Amino acid sequence: MRAEIISVGTELLLGQILDTNASYLAQQLAELGIDVHFKQTVGDNDARVRGAVRLALSRADVLLITGGLGPTEDDLTVASVAGELGRPLERHDDIAERLRQFFALRGRVPPESVFKQALIPAGAHPIPNMRGTAPGVHLEHDGRELFLMPGVPFEMYGMMEGYVAPRLRERTGSAVIHSRVIRVTGEGESAVESRIKDLIGGSSPTIAPYAKLGEVHLRVTAKGAPDDVARQLDTGERALRERLADLIYGIDDDTLEGVVGRLLADRRATLAVAESCTGGLIAKRLTDVPGSSTYFLEGIVAYSNDAKRDLLNVPPAVIEEHGAVSAEVAESMARGVRQRAGSTWGLAVTGVAGPAGGTATKPVGLVFLGLATADHVQHRRLNLGEEAGRAGIRFLAAQAGLNLLRLRLLRSDA
Ligand code: AMP
Ligand code: MG
Repeated sequence: MRAEIISVGTELLLGQILDTNASYLAQQLAELGIDVHFKQTVGDNDARVRGAVRLALSRADVLLITGGLGPTEDDLTVASVAGELGRPLERHDDIAERLRQFFALRGRVPPESVFKQALIPAGAHPIPNMRGTAPGVHLEHDGRELFLMPGVPFEMYGMMEGYVAPRLRERTGSAVIHSRVIRVTGEGESAVESRIKDLIGGSSPTIAPYAKLGEVHLRVTAKGAPDDVARQLDTGERALRERLADLIYGIDDDTLEGVVGRLLADRRATLAVAESCTGGLIAKRLTDVPGSSTYFLEGIVAYSNDAKRDLLNVPPAVIEEHGAVSAEVAESMARGVRQRAGSTWGLAVTGVAGPAGGTATKPVGLVFLGLATADHVQHRRLNLGEEAGRAGIRFLAAQAGLNLLRLRLLRSDA
């Protein structure tokens, strides 16, 4: 079974509100195991609404239409659909009575326009609206099913969950469409894609990559009975893990900082962080995680050379010789912060976040990470480029720092 979503509203086309209804309905349909091949967004215009309905009827079995069901002049969805299907509008006295009561209860006299909502296409069933005045409309036409729902999200949710979804569920049995997101960091989209090229675009499960800032998400999607879907998602995840191994840091709602925190906690290890160009972002992300106080000891933002000397014991001679943005300073910062906190690990970052301050040898986007334990210190040089902008470079530097620590924690087990 194939469904199409039509959102009606000129404000959607002007970009003034987000089409959250379509996104909600798409998720509901996935949960019902129903494929969606197209969504349409159309303004409050009779001819164009009819055109959208005509097109959807030519390629879908079920139409979910939202918006334009109210009492005002521009609410024309019911009339346009009725016109397109060649069905006259009929007045439902019970709906009119309910509208009258709705207003009486609030001590108000309904304006005549309200009763427009009592007009329903011939042969259609009104869908009760427990959360507002405009009833929805359910009709069957040439083997297709149409559901018209209000645009007010809260009213539409009520109708979808209380009426539409249960009816569609009767037709789809137990089917679901579920996705699992495999989160990858440390390599760019094309590098990741080249490792899994032959797995992309297959069917059951389907695998598709999405580039994000500092990470790549691989969406694994399967359709069928819930048990079977879970098995397919496991199979897809296993295939990706074989190819990508520890480039994968987590799944679904996992965060990199949460995963690093778990690794530290599991090993009863502790961490202190010294940050220059990220200005505390790594510490912020780590401490966003509830329970981080068990492993996160302290974060120092050492922006100036003096701060690096005074707070982290970075020798001024090292800064003079190599510059504040250098492998030597990153290592020295990592050692210094680990020592002052007495932590298992010391992580440091220094770099040029821009937009100004870049030079030929130290361009914007050049970042050094330092990572120290009691008996070892290492660094990593990153060329993040300037395209991501200041905020992007800071995020990418934090991401790379967290990932360096994650990989070291994993590999120290091996
Ligand atoms: P309507 O049913 O078209 O009169 O819309 C009533 C209210 O719901 C308005 O505030 C709209 O902005 C909002 N609305 C309509 N369509 C959508 C949609 N697709 N997504 C989110 N909000 C919507
Ligand atoms: Mg509207």
